[in-house]
Amino acid sequence: MAASGIVAQARRAVRWGLLLGGLAATGCVGSSFNLATQQQEYTITSTEQEVEVGRKVARQVVDEVAVVADEPVQQRVRDIGQRIAAVCDRRELVYHFTVIADDDVNAFSLPGGYVFLDDGLVKKTANDDELAGVIAHEVAHIAARHAVKRYESNLGLQIVQLASLAARRGAATRGLSVAARVAQLAYARQDELEADRLAVRYLQAAGFDPKAMLTFLETLRDLHSDKAQYLPRGVVRPQYATTHPFVPERTLAVKEALFGVADYIDYLNAPE
Ligand SMILES: [Zn+2]
Repeated sequence: MAASGIVAQARRAVRWGLLLGGLAATGCVGSSFNLATQQQEYTITSTEQEVEVGRKVARQVVDEVAVVADEPVQQRVRDIGQRIAAVCDRRELVYHFTVIADDDVNAFSLPGGYVFLDDGLVKKTANDDELAGVIAHEVAHIAARHAVKRYESNLGLQIVQLASLAARRGAATRGLSVAARVAQLAYARQDELEADRLAVRYLQAAGFDPKAMLTFLETLRDLHSDKAQYLPRGVVRPQYATTHPFVPERTLAVKEALFGVADYIDYLNAPE
């Protein structure tokens, strides 16, 4: 790694620490960033601190957007979500599942146990198994601590900055709302694939059909090509296509997790 890269990472680590310091009076940021070993993990040490960051941003999101008023829809997502949460790798967290009144096909998670799904995505899923697949993928991001662990992807830093912004609610916020920014957060490719592999395991443990992940990835693939065709020039909306790219690779990862081996054609379709 180039020296300039290390310096940039160290700077980000310091900023991260300062931001967190401003958020929580107790607890400390894990200083596991090691220049000698170039170890890139930099984690929020306490779960409490992670939950606090997630809760602040989640509260702001709920303040800014309309949640779906249809209680049976919320209940359905909560029920599926809790079945996944009960078998996931981080059961000590309290998970919250919220459906947002938005036609976009998008889903996102925040550290500490907060999962949001757009109503547009819920409607695109063909059945409970497909919906469970999306939810399991988001729970997996939280369980694997992707947002806080891989801070070099900048995602964790962005979330902490959003928490800081949410904490200054009332102050004039320029540009996009916190909710709009959250909807555009994107995980790193390796985290996407890991979330899919974990999701397959969670679905199996919770009694859902994990093969539904493949059918929903097909839906996404078709949707992505539709969007590319019909989106007016210059219009960028927070779509699942933006926050969850890598569909061919994800299909490959899910098939490998399911069957141990993927079709040769998927290897051909998967980008380098
Ligand atoms: Zn994801």
